Order: sequence, then C-alpha cells, then structure tokens
Amino acid sequence: MAVTADIGLIGLGTMGSALALNIAENAAPIAVWNRTTARTHAFHAEAADLAPRITPCDTLEALVAAIRPPRAIILMVPAGQAVDDQLAALTPYLAADDLVIDAGNANFHDTNRRARAGLSFHFLGMGVSGGEEGARHGPAIMGGGEKADWDRVAPILTAIAAKHETEACADWMGPEGAGHFVKAVHNGIEYADMQMIAEVYGMMRDGFGLPAPAIGTTFERWNNGVLQSYLIEISAAVAAATDPLTGAAMLDVILDKAGQKGTGRWTAIEAQHLAAPIPVIEAAVAARNVSARLDERKAGEAVYGPAPERLPAGMLSEADLEAALTAGKILCYAQGFTMTAAAGPAFGWNLQLPAIARVWRAGCIIRSAMLDDMAQALTEDPARNLMLAPLFTAHLKRSLPALRRVVSAAALHGHAMPALSAGLAWFDAMRTACGTANMIQAQRDFFGAHGFERLDGADRPHGPWAMA
Ligand code: NDP
Repeated sequence: MAVTADIGLIGLGTMGSALALNIAENAAPIAVWNRTTARTHAFHAEAADLAPRITPCDTLEALVAAIRPPRAIILMVPAGQAVDDQLAALTPYLAADDLVIDAGNANFHDTNRRARAGLSFHFLGMGVSGGEEGARHGPAIMGGGEKADWDRVAPILTAIAAKHETEACADWMGPEGAGHFVKAVHNGIEYADMQMIAEVYGMMRDGFGLPAPAIGTTFERWNNGVLQSYLIEISAAVAAATDPLTGAAMLDVILDKAGQKGTGRWTAIEAQHLAAPIPVIEAAVAARNVSARLDERKAGEAVYGPAPERLPAGMLSEADLEAALTAGKILCYAQGFTMTAAAGPAFGWNLQLPAIARVWRAGCIIRSAMLDDMAQALTEDPARNLMLAPLFTAHLKRSLPALRRVVSAAALHGHAMPALSAGLAWFDAMRTACGTANMIQAQRDFFGAHGFERLDGADRPHGPWAMA
C-alpha cells in the first residue's frame, strides 16, 4: 500500500472524527482506522472536500503502511483497557522510532505506567480539551512524554490547536503523564466553574424567583465583564433555550442529576495524595455525587420540608452574585494552580504554571478572559499563590464582601452552595495567621503522644496530660 499520510488516527468516535477532520483541513494528510469498519467508511464518505486528504483503512496493518515513517498515530478511544489493547494490537506493526499518542482522557497514573512500560515504540500522553467543537476547530492540547517526541509532532498539533491571538494553545507540559495530569486539573477546575455557575443560577431561580430566560440575560450581561468565559456564554445560551416538546424553558425540563466520567474525581483524589487543598473542586465533585442521590433528596425534603426559600426583597442583588462568582473563580483557580505546583516536585516534573495558563486561554472548556491575567500573574511569580498576586488581590478585596453576603444568605435560607462556601472558608483559612490547628495538635498529643511545636520554641514536646 502506498504511503499517503503524514499521521494516523485510531478511533472515529465523537472526538476522533472531529480531530481527524481538523488535521486533514489544517495540518496534514491523515490515515484513519476504526474498530467498526463501517464507521471508517461512513466517516470518509461524510468528509466531503476533505476526503482526498483522508485515507480510510480497514486493518491496522494498512493504517501503519499508509503513514510516512517515522510514524505518528493518535489514539482517540475510551481511557483504560481500550488504550492498553490498542497499544498491544499495534505493537507487531510498529518500528522502534514510531510514535503513538494517547489523546483520550487517560488517568495520568496509567500514562506514567505506559511511559515506563518499555513499549517497543515511542509514546506520548496528550490531554485534549474543547469537546467536539474544539476538536474540530481548535482544541487546547496538553502534551506529556519525551520532549523530542513532542517536538516531532508539534507542527501538526500547533496547526490544529486553538489560537489565543496568534499563539497556539498547545504545549509540552513535561515527561510521562504530565499532559494528562494537567488535563485532569483542567477538568477539576471545569467541574468547579460549572458548579459555582449552577449555584448562582439556583439563587436567581429560587432565591430571586427569576425565570430561566431572565437568568440567561443576566449571564449574557456577565459575559461582557470580568466573568467573560465559554462556560458563562453557554450558560446564557442554555438558560435562554426553549424545549421544542413543551415550549417550557429547556432548563426547567432537565432532571437535576449530574453525570460524570470521573476526571474531576481523579483530581480530588490526587489532591489528597499531594496534600494540596482544592476544597472548591472537591465540593464540586461531591455536589455531582449528591445530585445523583435523587431518592434520598426527595426523602429529605419530605422530612424537613422544602428548601430553598425565596430571599427577602433587597437581601442580595445580581451584582452580589456576579462578584461572588468572580471571587469563587479566582479562589478555585488559585487552588488548582497550587495543586499543580505541588505535583511538579512529587512526580519529578518541572511543570510550568504560566505555560499551563497560556494553553487554557483558548480552545478548552475553561477558557476565559481571566486566564490571560492569570498567565501574566504566574509569569511574574510562578511560586506565588494567585490569591496573593496584586492583579487578583484587588479583585478579591472588591468581591469578597459580596461572596460573604451570598454565602450567608444561602445558609440562612436553605440554598446549597457547597463550592462557593468552600471557596470562602478556604480564603478565610488562608488569610488567618493564627488558626485553630493548635487544638488538633493538642488532641493528637493527648490520645497519641504525637507531640507538637510550641509558639515560644521551648523544648517541651508533650502536654501535661502525658505526664500522669
Ligand atoms: P466515543 O464513544 O464517541 O468514541 C469512542 C471511539 O473509540 C469509537 O471510535 C469506538 O469505536 C472506539 N473504541 C471504543 N472501544 C474501543 C476498543 N476497546 N478498542 C478500540 N476502539 C474502541 O468517545 P469520544 O470520542 O467522546 O471519546 C474518546 C476519548 O476522548 C475518551 O478517552 C474521552 O474521555 C476523550 N475525550 C472526550 C471528550 C468529549 O467531549 N467527548 C473531550 C476530551 C476528551 P467503535 O466505532 O468501534 O465503537
């Protein structure tokens, strides 16, 4: 079979199809293979003008033969066993200098394992964000593995990536699973951004009694300000949408039971391993799990009566909600970046926080105007917590009183706001030089003789309770 392609792709599902069309259009001729052969041919038939730049292959052997050596092949199949199976299936056909790129949502521990597994070819793990639309017209791309392998495929990946102004949102994050790790943190932040938006939506719906289209208008207005972001933009669109079946607001016919594929959970689990506090993200993951317990929630309402309550007139304004969301967002990103900073030394990676913020500025689900300022603040001092960067201290000082008002009103009137509340509690803990862990240390020493440090530095490692 003739060599017709500069790169190959396996897995023509939602993401793989979109990515293959993007590559064919913007970067290079591509060869494709899919487990179900009919899908390969349907994809090629639907590719219209791009079809001549796509080689559909019925076998893995044909796919490999169609790619110019040294080959690069992107895997876009479900994370987990399917990736290991595909790597094994490719092994007999690949040469030592060929490269396989796992572009699915792998757990970065799996990518670490694969990078160390002694595969007979080169291997990159690559986080891709932006959903189907991003994959087709410009995703954010977070690569991990050997830098030389990244450099080999960087021209194609930067050509298909989203652009912030003229800068491609595609970069090498570090060795092994670094790209998939950064993608996991991205997804954790995505969970938190979405949850905080849902919380202020809930306050407008139940606390203010506003209909969905009015809430959509508010989100639309916010999207012209400091909160400008893809997630606010789509929240405006979904709040404005009408159900074609009933004519009701679309949001009012959707069951409040959130799904998840687990990437937010991985971030929360990893944060615990790293002892890196990300309570806003953890609260967002927990909130999805709580939402899934619909029968228990119904039972709770039957016992304790309905919540949440309408707020007394004038208690909160929409401007309060906008400011609270702004503060919550800054605090959540500060947590995500400090977690990322903790991962570098833990895994022996030199993660570049400014580069991560730059890659997230366009293409990905969490893209927002604020990320540009974050990239700038992290460039000034990558080791400084974002809540201490002057660019954000000004924002926080302005918006924190509103966050306090919103969280207090929510608590008084039965509105669950786990993520915004967690952000505020974290902020208060992080700006308190004299906290309450002295009590924890005393308790630990009392029951476990764990010892403690004294404020006066005196050499007395245990309390009087240990003397009896
Ligand atoms: P789809 O379910 O749309 O497509 C899955 C593809 O993988 C299909 O081509 C399917 O082939 C193939 N496949 C499934 N199981 C196997 C297997 N055991 N061996 C070989 N091929 C297999 O998934 P998506 O395109 O949505 O997701 C692909 C990857 O991208 C996942 O890791 C996902 O987490 C990640 N991702 C998804 C995003 C999204 O917004 N959807 C965003 C970012 C990443 P067949 O036609 O034969 O079933």
